[in-house]
Amino acid sequence: MAIDIVNPYDMAIAQFDEAADRLGLSQAMRAILRKPKRELIVNFPVRMDNGDVEMFTGYRVQHNINRGPAKGGIRFSPEVSLDEVRALAMWMTWKCAVVGIPFGGAKGGVICDPHKLSRNELERLSRRYATEISILIGPDSDIPAPDMNTNPQIMAWMMDTFSMHKGFSIPAVITGKPLAIGGSEGRLEATARGVQFVTIEAMHDLRMRPEDCSVVVQGFGNVGSISARLLIELGCKVVAVSDISGGVYNVKGIDINSELLELPCEVLVPAALENQLTAKNASRIRARLIIEAANGPTTPDADHILNDRGIMIVPDILANAGGVTVSYFEWVQDLQRFFWAEHEINDRLESIMTRAYRASRVKADEQDTNLRMGSYLLAVARVAEATEIRGVYP
Ligand code: NAD
Repeated sequence: MAIDIVNPYDMAIAQFDEAADRLGLSQAMRAILRKPKRELIVNFPVRMDNGDVEMFTGYRVQHNINRGPAKGGIRFSPEVSLDEVRALAMWMTWKCAVVGIPFGGAKGGVICDPHKLSRNELERLSRRYATEISILIGPDSDIPAPDMNTNPQIMAWMMDTFSMHKGFSIPAVITGKPLAIGGSEGRLEATARGVQFVTIEAMHDLRMRPEDCSVVVQGFGNVGSISARLLIELGCKVVAVSDISGGVYNVKGIDINSELLELPCEVLVPAALENQLTAKNASRIRARLIIEAANGPTTPDADHILNDRGIMIVPDILANAGGVTVSYFEWVQDLQRFFWAEHEINDRLESIMTRAYRASRVKADEQDTNLRMGSYLLAVARVAEATEIRGVYP
């Protein structure tokens, strides 16, 4: 068996290289797009509730900003690493391009276990991290958002911190904020709603009916739990869900977690983290359709196995792009100080997601490849075009 790639940055590079080969990208364009543009590492102190000071390490990486300001979430997790943030930043570049919104890709993270921090410690950590990365972020330069273990309250603290330094409120510096301070209707559900829209399209292509589909969801946070609810609304039956502490299968309450991925179902929705579908378990996956709500859940080796087995995968850069799309709407609303109704948000999101899915499908069929590569070919070509037109400075 081939060695499975587990470093997310290697995964991201392998995916890019395949798209670059198929597109026949020049040496110059490959060299530029393979590397993140900026990488900031910050080590900063936080006073803990017991009076001690602990040092934390955080990152902010911007991959490419030729199509617009950098955009990407902030993750708090003990597993955060520079390579993970680099990979997530690169995936953000492609994601924004595949849905055609005018942003480049970025990502941030802090190595910490937020479940072990008190609310006050979490607030101090969030505010200090926002201060440390404030040399990069701003409404015109780099706009963070929530990701794993960060939420609207944390976005509010970061927006407040940035605004305090400037002396006036700058809501457009960050998205995924609470409604009361310039958040958008529909943002909390946006990623899952995007998942729902692409699932409808994929089911249509596979001639599957939601009523006939059982669904397994891994990860029960923002994306996983709301995806489960919206897929039930569609008529699907959610038979198993899990989070970091365990899982439940049907009503019997069987304790499972990694085996959850191998349960018989029509639709599998990984909505937790990277490296879940690997060369080890890919041959045992029993779903017909995989919707990558998480970023990077499938390694390239697993991808080949699943493709060979005829399992359709809606790739992360397409499947979870609903989040950044409504973040874009939030940013536009904040800049214009003019807010839209929830149905306007959801209608616009639906048309963007459906169009991106269809364009990826057409590209994949044209090139006789799978949907992941269809999305990559669209996205990488758009970023390469913008990078080419702008030229290499100086
Ligand atoms: P979250 O922190 O709200 O939820 C994460 C969930 O995953 C939790 O339920 C946690 O218990 C679970 N989990 C963690 N490790 C697990 C494991 N080993 N097995 C099973 N479950 C595990 O985070 P989220 O915002 O829902 O993000 C989930 C994924 O979706 C991430 O890959 C993230 O990058 C991606 N994503 C999020 C957004 C967004 O808008 N929040 C947008 C696009 C992509």
